[in-house]
Amino acid sequence: MTDSPVGRLLDQYDTFLFDCDGVIWSGSAVIPQAREAIALLKKAGKDVCFVTNNSTSSRTQYHAKFARMGYTHVQPEDIFGSAFSAAYYLRHHTPLATSGLKVYVVGSQGITDELDAVGLPWKGAAREPAMNDEPAGMADLSQIGDDPEIGAVLMGFDLHINYVKLARAYTYLRTRREVAFYATNTDLQFPAANQTMYPGTGALISVLTTALDREPDAVLGKPSPHMLDVILESRHLDPKRTLMVGDRLDTDIAFGKHGGLGTLLVLSGVTSLDLVDQATGEARPDYIAPSIGHLVDALGQ
Ligand code: PLP
Ligand code: CA
Repeated sequence: MTDSPVGRLLDQYDTFLFDCDGVIWSGSAVIPQAREAIALLKKAGKDVCFVTNNSTSSRTQYHAKFARMGYTHVQPEDIFGSAFSAAYYLRHHTPLATSGLKVYVVGSQGITDELDAVGLPWKGAAREPAMNDEPAGMADLSQIGDDPEIGAVLMGFDLHINYVKLARAYTYLRTRREVAFYATNTDLQFPAANQTMYPGTGALISVLTTALDREPDAVLGKPSPHMLDVILESRHLDPKRTLMVGDRLDTDIAFGKHGGLGTLLVLSGVTSLDLVDQATGEARPDYIAPSIGHLVDALGQ
């Protein structure tokens, strides 16, 4: 690549892991020139994958989104969402597949589609209706009891979260300590298209962790090393020659640092320069750029 600071930086890496929201798109809008940057990296022979904590979509749904947004040449196997990594982890790294027990899901269809894809049975998610309001007084909660078919609770983002889902998850985890507790990710907030922040999966999970005084046994999204393990199990990459590109310090940059990857923070998402100044240790990026679109000039030469 070119003999410029960016060119020299890019020469150091063979594999590029891109966070999605705030880096390649913002909600349903493409980040300016991000498609061109990805296309140029691929043309230069770089391996490119995408790593998102947003658990609402499956790999198949993300693949359709990439195509819709003009990110051509992205294959399903290049996309690692936290719904995918959670289903993969539960299937390959827990006894659930052989136990015959089911996963109780508080989350969206992306998660249940991925569980279906790996053949793990589940309950809950969209099938769990909210409780009808009683005309007077408290609804009857006694219908919520333990269910011996459940071997694990998996929680992700759920736009239709309700008290019944939370009370069931709580009851399974409280009644039997051996019921495992998994989270797709623990982002406390996430940005919507209008750049406003809303409560994220981590905030929803705090209802359970607070009530139970118990943390998840494993978190499968960034910054957890499990996410990198899932990627490493399906494609070869040398951590020292891999660059993690993200817009969030406590997820993307910490993920890269935990895994021994290079880290590039872009300012096209949730983090501003004054926040970077306060960052220390694992949350301090190696490099900073305004956006990945800004790499295009150096890549194009
Ligand atoms: N969780 C939810 C529910 C989201 O909508 C988003 C972004 O839109 C995220 C997490 C963060 O996703 P990413 O890791 O791609 O920034
Ligand atoms: Ca992001």
